[in-house]
Amino acid sequence: MIPYGRQTIDDDDIQAVVDTLRSDWLTTGPKVDEFEQEFSRFTDSDHAVAVSNGTAALHTALHGAGITTDDEVIVPSLTFVATANAALYQGARPVFAEVESDTLVLDPVDVAERITKRTKAIVTVDFGGNPSRYAELRELADDHGLTLIADACHALGATYHDRPVGSLADLTVFSFHPVKHITTGEGGMVTTHDESVAGRMRRFRHHGLDDPPSHLKRFSGGSKVMVQAGTNYRLSDLQCALGITQLAKMPDWLDRRRAIAAKYDAAFDGSPHIVPQKTIPNSAHSYHLYVVRVDGVERQSVLDHLTSEGVTAAVHYLPVHLHPYYEEALGMGPGRLPTTERAGSQVLTLPVYPTLTDQEADHVIRSIDPFV
Ligand SMILES: *Cc1c(COP(=O)(O)O)cnc(C)c1O
Repeated sequence: MIPYGRQTIDDDDIQAVVDTLRSDWLTTGPKVDEFEQEFSRFTDSDHAVAVSNGTAALHTALHGAGITTDDEVIVPSLTFVATANAALYQGARPVFAEVESDTLVLDPVDVAERITKRTKAIVTVDFGGNPSRYAELRELADDHGLTLIADACHALGATYHDRPVGSLADLTVFSFHPVKHITTGEGGMVTTHDESVAGRMRRFRHHGLDDPPSHLKRFSGGSKVMVQAGTNYRLSDLQCALGITQLAKMPDWLDRRRAIAAKYDAAFDGSPHIVPQKTIPNSAHSYHLYVVRVDGVERQSVLDHLTSEGVTAAVHYLPVHLHPYYEEALGMGPGRLPTTERAGSQVLTLPVYPTLTDQEADHVIRSIDPFV
């Protein structure tokens, strides 16, 4: 079976982890700082805070932004549940907004209509690796005094008007789950240009303690003081060592993902039934996912046929407001977001990852061809 995504681990990745395992620092050591610095450089952000996974990164970003009880946070519903769940961790209310039917990113016009006196932040998702409508969202956020947060778990390496994702919102969140662009097994990162917010997030991931990393302290005795809310969301040096070697390969991996996407685009050009996600103008999609909308053909029959041909296609996503928990516990449900619900019923993800060969991509194209 060809999966829809998978990690790439080379000998240098393995060696980096083994070397760290033999070093003095397994966690809270120099590899964490090094990974954060490399990541800031890659995303053109001033600060990067490494945490234990992408969900922790979302929680940390909302804490950094000062989101609290009864605040409203506007989020798309066409996303992974974690995007909306993070608002609940802070006692805030996720308010779902529509995505654009063709680009699948948050629709700024619909967002504007959902802003109230309680709204504190917009969390946008760079869907599949397609950058959000950053200019329009920035203007809305500035006009209403909101924090703009990007869930860029799909979008490492994407650019918008020649600026990297990670430098565009007030806070940007990444995941290093094995299916994402780079992996640390589990891992996440938050980037920002704001030094005081970065400090607040560093303390949040380490029990709210006012305590620099152990390897920077000459004397480690004495008590540490807890100055704010916090938890343990630290990422280990073993994981950061892997993140450093993975990040170095991003330029090649992006080229490969984009080459596969270009093959698919050519195969579906002009098709009324298999319609690729439309890309945002003046931007570069990073293709964590290659997403099409299946129109006028039953999606399940496409999925079943692909499975019979050895191709794993996936659905990203069932809209969050249609999950049983959100329907029952939070009074959501169908009929509220027609564009999102239609998109959610049409989307299909085809395989894309750096080690997918041209022959495999051609097999995917031949397998879906009867529906094109
Ligand atoms: C993967 C993902 C997350 C969560 O990341 P984890 O590292 O799995 O916790 C959040 N949001 C989106 C859009 C994702 O794709």
